[in-house]
Amino acid sequence: LYGNRDNKNFSDLNLKKELLDSISKVGFETPGEVQAQCIPEALLGVDILCQAKSGMGKTAVFILATLQLLDKDSKPHSVLVVAPTRELAIQIKKEFERLGSGLSFKSMVFVGGEHFKKDLKALNKVKPHIIIGTPGKLKDLILHKDGINGKNVTHFVIDECDLILKDLDVRAQVQRIFISTQTQKQTMMFTATLPPDVLKVARFFLDKQKEIIINDKYLVLDGLKLLYQELKEEQKIRRTVEVLEEYKYNQAIVFAKSCRRADALSKVLQGNKIKTVCMHAKKSKTARDKIFKSVKKGAKKVIICTDVLGRGIDLEKIDFVLNFDMPKSSDAYLHRVGRAGRFGTKGLSISFISSEEDKKLLEEIQSRFTGKVEQIPTDFDPSPF
Ligand code: ADP
Ligand code: MG
Repeated sequence: LYGNRDNKNFSDLNLKKELLDSISKVGFETPGEVQAQCIPEALLGVDILCQAKSGMGKTAVFILATLQLLDKDSKPHSVLVVAPTRELAIQIKKEFERLGSGLSFKSMVFVGGEHFKKDLKALNKVKPHIIIGTPGKLKDLILHKDGINGKNVTHFVIDECDLILKDLDVRAQVQRIFISTQTQKQTMMFTATLPPDVLKVARFFLDKQKEIIINDKYLVLDGLKLLYQELKEEQKIRRTVEVLEEYKYNQAIVFAKSCRRADALSKVLQGNKIKTVCMHAKKSKTARDKIFKSVKKGAKKVIICTDVLGRGIDLEKIDFVLNFDMPKSSDAYLHRVGRAGRFGTKGLSISFISSEEDKKLLEEIQSRFTGKVEQIPTDFDPSPF
């Protein structure tokens, strides 16, 4: 079990009865380490920068804390959550609904690609207390006179903050949002990885913050077996088919480095009667929503994708991650393999190493994280990992 060091229970966290009820309804037994440490701090209203491994339950930290801090006098637009992708934003909204089911706060999600006027109308009709969205859309909504009322924002959350602050355009959008909100607010940022340059930027947003860094040096997930295999580029497809046929898993996610490669791989696998869906940024928004829904339901066993799904996405059934192409950085590696092994469940990840660059990255990964990435043994038995 993924408990916490002090053996705290949810009932020790000073949460409303409605929250404790929904927590037990969704089946959370004890708070994870990050929750036990962060929620009490967050409830004090201080700014928070929280770095903790993937799958440790960071989402529930800001959801439970904000739902606890809102009350009957809270105005619409009190909570603003920024997430890097539409899928993650939608997932966060669902989690607000799940954990807030006993409370009457309304939440809405706004993501790119939807009609601005429609969004504006819906926002004014529903008057949500909690707004979740992607940076560009939230910026547009907060700059519009009838849009999000920045004066009402008392809690500002950035999930996957390193990704959001790394990209200069996205960072600029978030800065616009930030300065359009009132100064007296609580800001909370969450990430699994936090390079020093991004940490510096993050601190600009935070006021006398509490930095809560959990297991920094032990970033590799418990229960996750990490393997690699050296092979030639042209052997990758054949090997992928073999691996997906031989290994036992509930749901697998396969990462390719471009949309085109993802599409091509998906076709080949389907030709081999492996049920796949393919997900990347070049798909239409409606297609993405539809695919993501079916993926969430577990309808498709193998998901082929680019790094669109590398971050934050919580797919319970995934227990196998295949890096068909290695990612660009060791941080990205960590995020990808983190898709398996959510909240302490077991998982397996295999990375194909086919170039000098791949080798270098593998070395970097080996030196940075505890938990070694091992070569696939020839007699590896894939069933009981
Ligand atoms: P992170 O953002 O840290 O990567 P998530 O917030 O996405 O992790 O949570 C990972 C998974 O763990 C989710 O499926 C979530 O529902 C589950 N989870 C979170 N907290 C608990 C808990 N206290 N007990 C059991 N499962 C939990
Ligand atoms: Mg997360």
